[in-house]
Amino acid sequence: MNEIFLLKLGEIILKGSNKRQFENKLRQNIRRRMKPYGNFDVYILQSTVYVEPQDEEADVEGAWEACKSIFGVNSICRCRPCEKNMDAIFEAVEAYLGDELDCAASFKVESKRSDKQFPMSSIAISQEIGGRLAEAHPNVAVDVHHPAYTVYVEVRDLSAYVHGPALPGAGGLPTGVGGRAMCLLSGGIDSPVSAYMMAKRGVEIESVHFFSYPYTSQLAKDKVLELARLVTRYSGKMTVNIVSFTEIQEAIRDNCPEEYFTLIMRRFMMEISQRLAREDGCGALVTGENLGQVASQTMEAMTVTGAVVNMPIFMPLVGMDKEEIVTIARKIGTLETSILPYEDCCTVFTPKHPKTKPTLGQVIHAERNLDREALITRALESVEKIKVAYHDEPLL
Ligand code: ATP
Ligand code: MG
Repeated sequence: MNEIFLLKLGEIILKGSNKRQFENKLRQNIRRRMKPYGNFDVYILQSTVYVEPQDEEADVEGAWEACKSIFGVNSICRCRPCEKNMDAIFEAVEAYLGDELDCAASFKVESKRSDKQFPMSSIAISQEIGGRLAEAHPNVAVDVHHPAYTVYVEVRDLSAYVHGPALPGAGGLPTGVGGRAMCLLSGGIDSPVSAYMMAKRGVEIESVHFFSYPYTSQLAKDKVLELARLVTRYSGKMTVNIVSFTEIQEAIRDNCPEEYFTLIMRRFMMEISQRLAREDGCGALVTGENLGQVASQTMEAMTVTGAVVNMPIFMPLVGMDKEEIVTIARKIGTLETSILPYEDCCTVFTPKHPKTKPTLGQVIHAERNLDREALITRALESVEKIKVAYHDEPLL
């Protein structure tokens, strides 16, 4: 093949004795992510993943795009493999990078020799290839300090590889090495970002969405499924558990003091999510909560809503400014969908004066007329499980 991708590992290389396990997971993730694009060989040598198309049918551009969103990878580059001798290396640079070099004002060659059997040092490789390139491209200056373009030569065990500047990878840890968590996904800006952030820390993501038909519409549900689909570009496929929340919300409206509506509703969400999490082998919940953003996100409110859960609740956005969250949402491509104006069940029956400093005792008292267990059981019976993946058709 005349082009392959090299993905350099990120933090993964720091993980000592777990390194092998992490690498296996990463290789497995990359193989799965490459599947829609054809036949690719994926192997790891010397802290680098090699992704090699196996035939002409492979969709190299599609696969390259997909490589940009794989967690556990620090940087990515496309390269041309060649034989490990100076003539072959020079010819490969000319054929593969010659045009780009011609467009640059200046250049240098940087070499790395991980095959210690190769007879020349990396400095000698750079000098010789740099000299030959300077002759072949007299209009491009050599500048070893601030070059406009850098040609990279890597002499590795299997081959030599030449490439231009690498791009940043998605960072983080390979999805799956950090266990699995259930993300409470609303149609807002925050929760898809929180799912992305935990996936970046190596957590496999499942999600749960509460919807209140007819108070919320089919479009609101499709919007959440579309957000989940967009997150799977990074997290890999996920199951969205859709829970019908209408009966619970009506029961709260009819039986509880208004100032506690949101808190009680959120306690139901947490408890139902935890039960679904346990069923699906998840060890934690993830929410997009953010301290002080709304009345239900004060420390006191979080204490009250967290009290029904005894697994960790990850809130990766808790200390961020909205602007910072929006920047990430834009970067990962969820913002445009998040800001579509469909209602969320949180906005149904919102109290005019929500309690911002509740105590657990007050809330338990406010819930006393509800048959919590029966409501939760029926909500769990209503669950619809929908699998989503980035390659599905967009819903909106
Ligand atoms: P977001 O932008 O994620 O909607 P928000 O600022 O609107 O967040 P809230 O509506 O108070 O905040 O919700 C806080 C968190 O509770 C959300 O980030 C999400 O994790 C969860 N949540 C809210 N509504 C729902 C829902 N309908 N289904 C599932 N989870 C929800
Ligand atoms: Mg919301």
